[in-house]
Amino acid sequence: MSAHVPPDTTVELLDHGFVRLDDALADDLSVVNGARVSFARRKTQMDDSDAALIRFLMRDRHGSPFEHNAFRFHIRCPIFVAREWFRHRIGSFNEFSLRYAAASDDFYLPAIADVRSQVGKPGAYTFEPVTPALAEQTREALQAVYAKAYETYEELVAAGVARELARCVLPVGAYTQFYWTVNARALMNFLSLRNSEFAQLEIRRYAEVVEGFFAGQMPVTHACFVELDRVAP
Ligand SMILES: Cc1cc2nc3c(=O)[nH]c(=O)nc-3n(C[C@H](O)[C@H](O)[C@H](O)COP(=O)(O)OP(=O)(O)OC[C@H]3O[C@@H](n4cnc5c(N)ncnc54)[C@H](O)[C@@H]3O)c2cc1C
Repeated sequence: MSAHVPPDTTVELLDHGFVRLDDALADDLSVVNGARVSFARRKTQMDDSDAALIRFLMRDRHGSPFEHNAFRFHIRCPIFVAREWFRHRIGSFNEFSLRYAAASDDFYLPAIADVRSQVGKPGAYTFEPVTPALAEQTREALQAVYAKAYETYEELVAAGVARELARCVLPVGAYTQFYWTVNARALMNFLSLRNSEFAQLEIRRYAEVVEGFFAGQMPVTHACFVELDRVAP
């Protein structure tokens, strides 16, 4: 891929996570030229008519011109975030292997302010802060389970049990990492669902960072996406 990516593209988040834009072949012209090939035309510079074209394509949901680009992200996140992420089938994933490599002892411990209660009914939950005492109790409970889980994992591996089996003791708060390659159309679908007030807080934090990279690479497309109510074309 051709790189238009600034050298330091790692954004750290949560307690041990990051999003890194590894590479991108993605700009607004990829949308314009995907559409203008219908008339055997090709542009090398964006102008106002191209911005208007992108807006038209977005508004009328002509989606395929938004597919002629690629973003390759490297992500480190808790397993429960990755499980939500991997539900997005339009894209390619490769993940760290707990069969071939040893697990790390990094586990997600939410910040005090992120420990929350769940109020209401499915589909209409709100998430409210808990008392500082309950937040601290939650963190201590998680820490105790994480420590015991990792200790057991190491004991099993040391005793000769295969990593692929010993990993069964690891909770979904354990960190994993993966590569994700995705085009702008599927990326906007991801953002509409995961950088949303309805998404779980933790994946939303990741989606906010992903959206920042998307906006940097494809500012006109991103602006249209936001203006037109964040509906992926
Ligand atoms: C707030 C929230 C709560 C959720 N809760 C649950 C839950 O409780 N249980 C659960 O299982 N999932 C849940 N999900 C996951 C959700 O159902 C989707 O699987 C996930 O968001 C991926 O969305 P997507 O299918 O649009 O994305 P992608 O898989 O990336 O697909 C992109 C688009 O391609 C098209 N497409 C892809 N595959 C097909 C196909 N097979 N047939 C037809 N069209 C296709 C669709 O237009 C789709 O929107 C939740 C998601 C969110 C955001």
